[in-house]
Amino acid sequence: MSPLKVLNSDSTAVPVVCWSCAVAHNESTLFCTACSKVQPPPGVDYFQVFNLPRHLQIDLASLEQEFHKLSRKLHPDRFARATEAEREFSLADTALINDAYRTLRDPVRRTEYLLKLEGEEIGEEHAGHNTGNAERTSRVPADLLEEVFELNMQLDELREGDQKDPALLSEVGAAGEKFSGMLNELDGNLQHQWALWDDGDAATRTAAQKQMVALLDRRR
Ligand SMILES: [Zn+2]
Repeated sequence: MSPLKVLNSDSTAVPVVCWSCAVAHNESTLFCTACSKVQPPPGVDYFQVFNLPRHLQIDLASLEQEFHKLSRKLHPDRFARATEAEREFSLADTALINDAYRTLRDPVRRTEYLLKLEGEEIGEEHAGHNTGNAERTSRVPADLLEEVFELNMQLDELREGDQKDPALLSEVGAAGEKFSGMLNELDGNLQHQWALWDDGDAATRTAAQKQMVALLDRRR
């Protein structure tokens, strides 16, 4: 590795300089630690916004606490007599913490977000395609798709029929129970993978990531 590269990789860790007092502060900080002035939205991920480690098992109570604390500090009333720039920073920071909070407090969105940070291709547009594989085989089992298709047809019949067919109703009810059971099982599996990812070594993490991508696809 050339000396320049070492310098560059080190430079990403160099703290940001406050626009107001010029004291360097941690880049994830929304407020300068020296002069307390609001800073522009930092270029950090949602976990860093709340000073959380990049983990899937997070303490929701302290996340909520931290969110409310920052929300209060960024409240528009506090910037009524501030400069135009400070008002803009506070609004942009508020948008950032709102997005970060909404994403991290939801178990599925949090998992999707972390997987994206780790370079996995997930979401509707990638579902059903094996990433990096020329042979685009479905990641969702065919039997599951068939069952969903069948249930949709039964639901259509129910919606269109004037008379509610009791046999059909009980069939759809049973299918609904089956799917909610599957969802519970899926979420249990997902939480198991969370623990593997959070505490595992590199190989365990990679394996857990693949499992989670598949589980989220199936869930969708
Ligand atoms: Zn400052």
